[in-house]
Amino acid sequence: MTSKSEKKQVGLLGIPFDGNSSFETGPALAPEKIRKVLDKGSLNKGTENGINLKDNPLWLDCGDILIKNDDEFLPAIKQGCDELLKQNIRLLTLGGDHSISYPIITSYAKYFPNLTILHIDAHSDLYDSFNGNRLSNACPFARIMEDKLCQRLVQMGIRTLNEHQYQQAERFKVEIIEMKNWHSGQVPNLSGPVYLSLDIDGLDPAFAPGVSHREPGGFSTREIINIIHRMGGELVGADLVEFNPIKDIDEMTSQLSAKLVKEIAGKMLSSL
Ligand code: MN
Ligand code: MN
Repeated sequence: MTSKSEKKQVGLLGIPFDGNSSFETGPALAPEKIRKVLDKGSLNKGTENGINLKDNPLWLDCGDILIKNDDEFLPAIKQGCDELLKQNIRLLTLGGDHSISYPIITSYAKYFPNLTILHIDAHSDLYDSFNGNRLSNACPFARIMEDKLCQRLVQMGIRTLNEHQYQQAERFKVEIIEMKNWHSGQVPNLSGPVYLSLDIDGLDPAFAPGVSHREPGGFSTREIINIIHRMGGELVGADLVEFNPIKDIDEMTSQLSAKLVKEIAGKMLSSL
């Protein structure tokens, strides 16, 4: 018989925090919007890979981590994630700006020492510092690589690299599939435990207008879903960040985010 502590589950966790947004705030409003579509919207709870999230005992809502003071965001998120991971609850986190991925992955690295990160974004978020803030939403992957929190970082969707970011990518041996070089249907061949960090601006703004940094030339919704379904490895954690409801048009990005939550959850649950 499996004891309670050995039972693995997947938990939805909100982090309504945008204190490190470098341009516009708004992503703190995202978790509530996404939950509203998931719980009261027009979508059903079935996923494309045949898992039903409705009344599923392996799928939990873990509520939100509330950050009272910007300075507390690192310890508050690390401790909050530690509490859940040690109960064998794998996390699908709703941001929030992208700065939250650094403390989440700091916690993950303790439980999954050979982590591969798949980071989908228009931006590589490798700045050493941005506007004097080393914890900016433009910097999380520089911090993650300095702290050696993963064995491999693969980035996709990237279409904004500058000289500094190329240097940082080389320094940290980041594997970047730039958007200009990506070919239709290309999916990274990953193995072992995988963490997906999905910045909604990795999609084209035609599909996801509700973001602070609209960068045309990105993925379609279908292309992202295919990558989620087909990438290798065991998906043990994910975050969906940078959805900014203030910039949304007719709830397009709320609906999109809820759909992506379902597909990521389906993939994580099928990996348990
Ligand atoms: Mn981005
Ligand atoms: Mn980002």
